Amino acid sequence: MSIQQRKKVAIIGAGPSGMMAAWFLAPHCDVLLFDRNSRPGKKFLVAGKGGLNLTHDENPSDFIQKYHPSGFLDPVIAEFDNTAFRKWLLDLGIKTFTGSSGKVFPEKEFNASDCLKAIFSNIIGRGVTFYPNHTLLSVSPEREIVFSIDKPGHAAVESGHNPHKGHVTYKPDYIILALGGASWQITGSDGSWTRIVENIGVNTLPFKHSNCGINISWNDNIKLHHSGKPLKNVTSTVAGSKRPKVLGEALITETGLQGTAIYPLIPEIRQCLDTGMKCELIIDFKPRNNEESLLRKINENTKPSEYKEIFHLDGPQLSVIKAFVSKSDYLNPRSFCRNLKHVLIPIDSLPPIDECISVVGGIPIQELNSDLSFRKHSFLYAIGEMVNWDAPTGGYLLQACFSMGAFVAHSILQKSILLR
Ligand SMILES: Cc1cc2nc3c(=O)[nH]c(=O)nc-3n(C[C@H](O)[C@H](O)[C@H](O)COP(=O)(O)OP(=O)(O)OC[C@H]3O[C@@H](n4cnc5c(N)ncnc54)[C@H](O)[C@@H]3O)c2cc1C
Repeated sequence: MSIQQRKKVAIIGAGPSGMMAAWFLAPHCDVLLFDRNSRPGKKFLVAGKGGLNLTHDENPSDFIQKYHPSGFLDPVIAEFDNTAFRKWLLDLGIKTFTGSSGKVFPEKEFNASDCLKAIFSNIIGRGVTFYPNHTLLSVSPEREIVFSIDKPGHAAVESGHNPHKGHVTYKPDYIILALGGASWQITGSDGSWTRIVENIGVNTLPFKHSNCGINISWNDNIKLHHSGKPLKNVTSTVAGSKRPKVLGEALITETGLQGTAIYPLIPEIRQCLDTGMKCELIIDFKPRNNEESLLRKINENTKPSEYKEIFHLDGPQLSVIKAFVSKSDYLNPRSFCRNLKHVLIPIDSLPPIDECISVVGGIPIQELNSDLSFRKHSFLYAIGEMVNWDAPTGGYLLQACFSMGAFVAHSILQKSILLR
């Protein structure tokens, strides 16, 4: 694709979505990539601490169903899907593998920092200019963007610019906002950008919890002896819910539970807690057995001290069951069997939003055109976690952010050609 007059595109936010847009646009446009941090991809590095789950190995129709609201990201993922993403990574020298649960990770020899280096150096190699330490202050309907500069930045200095402390203004042809959500503020994604877009007439939604743990009042025994230990192969659901149970692992923390058996339930838990209603988690500790098969393992002489061996329960499982099943039900083997598949645990609250893996809220999708430009300002685009979509963990978050970057780049290239 070639564009006669090179357009100037400013991308603000050097996370996965912003970097991807920069990579695709670089051969065709003058790309200026800004971030308030001195280095790109701080949250990407945080994501890599627990194993960098880049995407998910799954067929397209199942894959796309993980996103909410349904339909919004269909063309975006179709433009740059999990296969295209893995091929792109491989072209940059990052080999990936599929783990047992379908999660896709970089091969063992690449950590998150290696992946980031490969991506970022390739972007710079394609001619993108990186402006570190630039905090966006405002965007005007006339395409002016104003930054405060905290410190002279390395890359900008190296590429011939010499920013001084103070404010600078740019007037590019297109502006892509890729400013992230509002958790792990230490990474630069603090959500304070909402007032910037509100000042130009864009509505925003309050940020809310998405993938995160839940707070539970554990007894001292669980806190002292089991925090850091997993409840493996359990299914979980919210009491009163009609949604299918979630199979996964719930990690016991000092304050509650987190992990794959919990994160997909957060939208329901959030809604339930918001309405002030009692909210309870139901854990099935034996999802592969029905109650009848559990009952066949006991007789009238079975003693509670034998449960561990008979039902293959470990210490953390038994302690959680004991804490939330009444004494009479625990002592009665038949009631115990019934409860094994239905332990009711009251949920106190959600942790601070800053601790979330991802959030929802920010830019309502109704504020955007289908090409991800703002309805009120067609030169301005929003991508990544700052837009109000949701997905569970499992690589779906990063995939959507990279896909939105690729999609918006193509939208701008298309628009540039049409307007030429
Ligand atoms: C602990 C943790 C683990 C995670 N693990 C995974 C995982 O394994 N797999 C997965 O798919 N996802 C994971 N995620 C989620 C994933 O990292 C994010 O969804 C993703 O980074 C969002 O990308 P983004 O480009 O939208 O924004 P971000 O990565 O948040 O980048 C936004 C950038 O904008 C900059 N910025 C913000 N405001 C301004 C401003 N005013 N001026 C200038 N710059 C600004 C920030 O400094 C930041 O660099 C994890 C997240 C966390 C916190």
